[in-house]
Amino acid sequence: MKVVLQNLTKRYPNLNKKIKGEVVAVDSFNFEIPDGKLIGLLGPSGCGKSTTLNLICGLEAPTEGRILFDDEDVTGLPPEKRGVGMVFQNYALYPHLTVRQNIMFPLENLKGADKLTKEQMKEKVEAAAKLVQIEKYMDRKPAALSGGQQQRVAIARALVKIPRVLLLDEPLSNLDARLRLQTREEIRRIQRETGVTTIFVTHDQEEAMSISDMIVVMKEGRVQQIGKPQTVYDDPVNLFVAKFLGTPPINVFSGCVKDGVLYIGNEPVLDISGVEDREVYVGVRPEGFVLDDAGALTCRLSAVEVMGRDTSVVSYHDALDGVAIRSIIPAEDKVDTSSSAVRFNLKPFKVHIFDKETEERIYFTADEPSVPVNRELLDRM
Ligand code: ADP
Repeated sequence: MKVVLQNLTKRYPNLNKKIKGEVVAVDSFNFEIPDGKLIGLLGPSGCGKSTTLNLICGLEAPTEGRILFDDEDVTGLPPEKRGVGMVFQNYALYPHLTVRQNIMFPLENLKGADKLTKEQMKEKVEAAAKLVQIEKYMDRKPAALSGGQQQRVAIARALVKIPRVLLLDEPLSNLDARLRLQTREEIRRIQRETGVTTIFVTHDQEEAMSISDMIVVMKEGRVQQIGKPQTVYDDPVNLFVAKFLGTPPINVFSGCVKDGVLYIGNEPVLDISGVEDREVYVGVRPEGFVLDDAGALTCRLSAVEVMGRDTSVVSYHDALDGVAIRSIIPAEDKVDTSSSAVRFNLKPFKVHIFDKETEERIYFTADEPSVPVNRELLDRM
């Protein structure tokens, strides 16, 4: 099922009388969610993610715009007629019912032509339980299950009617770190197996990046960027998106472009073309730093953390717009920890520059990729 949002807008009356105007929770959304894909709706708290889900499932009516499931306009349909399954952060299972009864619940309410026999219900419940691998616990009550198991029951309950669209609102927030990882992989598997178009809401960029076919990054009710996780990470349209994706986050410096040279502070770091002289923010991904004794960027060394395959270097620079620079370099590149300085060259494709006012991305071409070859390796050759 393809889900199309056309000019979707939701405005609420402002409850704070001191502020004039309305709250625009969702502002002119236009996008199409392809059939059978898992979409991550991502953004900080209050950016309109839950409102978007509530509009899609019919719990809220839009102020403007339309929602289509394939070619059917569902904007005016009540939730129960839309065929959506929903899973919330708090699993909302019925505590007095067993797992089996909880999963069966949506089927018992079917009426008219949709009504199922006891046998049909049993079959469907068992299939849904098998899908989420909860068959062993069918006779337990929710209180006797772990958080992850309860969330699986909630997913089985949302899937038992075979929804046209599955909506997941922060489904992993109440789980501990290990379970979160495990359950998100489960969700990905279940989504692949069922092929149900799924929208997954989260404020956790890593979560969204790891399981989504496509992510939609939102800010203050507006879509900032839509794309494959890697594409959005590699090619952010503005500083907000660049900062929102990635752990450790992108390092942001104050800089400028002058006569075809990009400066961080007053250090020339890249030769670039296509940009007129101006002040900019320079974003450098942690993996964009290349250790070099004669590197263009000199930073004050703070700490070197060995993480097995990689090394994390923590350093400072006066032009940094943040606390400390986090760079990730291969473990075989050795940092001279006896020195108070560490020098880097920058990989041009890991450097993004942004307008100081609008924070929109400014596109440039790097004239001469200034990534030096690893000298130690060169020496060994
Ligand atoms: P998110 O899910 O991204 O945290 P929400 O969709 O819950 O964001 O909220 C988006 C914005 O709309 C917020 O500013 C929130 O305060 C506002 N909002 C949500 N629901 C209501 C409501 N019923 N009345 C007034 N404002 C609301």
